[in-house]
Amino acid sequence: MKKIIIAALALIALSGCSEQVEYSASITDNIKKISPLELWTESKEKSVVDGITYYGDTLIVNKEIALPEDYAPGENAAARKALNQLIAAGEEQGLHFAIRSGYRSYDEQNVLYSNYVARDGKAAADKYSAEPGHSEHQTGLAYDLGSVESVKDFTISFGDTPEGKWLQTHAQEYGFIIRYPEGKTHVTGYQYEPWHIRYLGRALAQDVYHSKLTLEEYFGMYNPAESQS
Ligand SMILES: [Zn+2]
Repeated sequence: MKKIIIAALALIALSGCSEQVEYSASITDNIKKISPLELWTESKEKSVVDGITYYGDTLIVNKEIALPEDYAPGENAAARKALNQLIAAGEEQGLHFAIRSGYRSYDEQNVLYSNYVARDGKAAADKYSAEPGHSEHQTGLAYDLGSVESVKDFTISFGDTPEGKWLQTHAQEYGFIIRYPEGKTHVTGYQYEPWHIRYLGRALAQDVYHSKLTLEEYFGMYNPAESQS
């Protein structure tokens, strides 16, 4: 949250030289040139609190890192607010998003996953579904989006729909990232899921987006040497 402090200091600096009006414009210009991205200093330190893993302030769950069975926060209010803004912005562009999935409890994930394993076998199911405790939907910070048309929902070709394309380039503006990007299965363990978005907050989402890294790579969790086996 360093950028807020810097912005506040800049305001103080501005108000401190109110009689020197001619300088204000150039100071303002300089402030604008410093983008929030350059000032963002997210901690990447790992910590585990009550069985929940964080990197900095960011809760992490993936194929390796689980959530406790009794972790049931429900839908995150900030994530929902941001999602509503994203959907409204899409509507303004003539896009019609539909929320296909949101918060899911451990037990709900258990039922889903068991059904997938019974249907497709564990190896196949693991490519598109998470073991109970390993689903990002249990955090209340993840959503699966589709379009009202729904024909391509939950398929890779959703990424080629107007909604899917817009999501790839604008989700970060609302604090979300495409959590399982194309070509990163070796890192995330998941096939490309253009529909699955994870809320990170705007500053971090933009930073991760511009880094072109998965969350695992961004936080330095991914070790290429380890995944060779
Ligand atoms: Zn999902």
